[in-house]
Amino acid sequence: MIQTEDMEFAPRVISPENSAEDNEIERGLRPQTLHEYIGQDKVKENLAICIEAAKRRQEPLDHVLLYGPPGLGKTTLSAIIAHEMGVNLRITTGPAIEKPGDLVSLLTSLSENDVLFIDEIHRLSRAVEEILYPALEDRVIDIIIGKGPSARSIRMDLKPFTLIGATTRAGQLSSPLRDRFGVIQRLELYSKEHLTDIVRRSSMILGIPCTTDGAAEIAGRARGTPRIANRLLKRVRDFADVIGNGEITQQIASIALSRLEIDALGLDSLDRRMLEMIIKGYGGGPVGLETLASAIGEESVTLEDVCEPFLMQLGFLGRTPRGRCATKLAYEHLGFKTPEESAADDGQLTL
Ligand code: ADP
Repeated sequence: MIQTEDMEFAPRVISPENSAEDNEIERGLRPQTLHEYIGQDKVKENLAICIEAAKRRQEPLDHVLLYGPPGLGKTTLSAIIAHEMGVNLRITTGPAIEKPGDLVSLLTSLSENDVLFIDEIHRLSRAVEEILYPALEDRVIDIIIGKGPSARSIRMDLKPFTLIGATTRAGQLSSPLRDRFGVIQRLELYSKEHLTDIVRRSSMILGIPCTTDGAAEIAGRARGTPRIANRLLKRVRDFADVIGNGEITQQIASIALSRLEIDALGLDSLDRRMLEMIIKGYGGGPVGLETLASAIGEESVTLEDVCEPFLMQLGFLGRTPRGRCATKLAYEHLGFKTPEESAADDGQLTL
């Protein structure tokens, strides 16, 4: 899909959120073992030790919390953990567990040492969380039967299991819940080198001819996120088929990504709109997130979860208690003069 002006509100090519098309691509691309999982070395080392120790003691792995922006490999890691432990994986999300009863039936259906993966765990309701506490700590659940004065509580034992919680917002997790995870790991945005390896691996699996330079060009614009790198690889392949001979070279990748409005550093039109609004609309900031979001017609969660981690990593955005600010680097990248430079120019003109 080539983005044009009138397709401004089509899904972003570089949104790290999962889509149906991604599920299709990702099915074959997910690494199966820790060894195949590229990057995140510290997380891998820590998990490898925990897995080995649990296996030696023939116990389930301690409960694990993985946090970091979407598309970095949290679901993939949970499947790898289950695979390495030789147990089943059940996948669900916080919003899908609507009632305490939903969680009870999930927990009671697990086999010994199984892994239960709850994505977006910060979105569990309070009532569901209450069920989770004793389940995590003492492997029991308390079920209330009946209503009013005749209600009574029954305690049920659970089989040993491991909960893996994933969240983009560790800060929104209640502290009683956070405290019940024995292993807490933060996933970082990937380096260009690791993303290049991921693109090369994916292109090999998908049978797409791709030079190292071509892979690096895609990696450099994938904003540190494997899901985006894989999606861009598919898009660039279309260009390679149509305007080249099917091989992804650096030149083809560069043309394709520019046509998709992804600039040399990986910013797309939404990132640029956000920065331009701070600079032109609010004199460089600070401006509050909600104000900014409504000024550009976007959801504040999208700006916070998707744009900000990347723009902050590039050093383009500052977060202060009074709001967001564009940095000098952002002015330079977008080709604007900083307020100081403009003031200096004005000074010269009046001389
Ligand atoms: P999250 O759960 O954090 O949103 P996923 O685990 O769904 O992210 O990862 C998205 C895709 O990125 C996966 O399908 C996988 O192909 C790819 N991926 C993620 N991490 C890695 C990695 N370390 N090495 C190779 N591919 C990865």
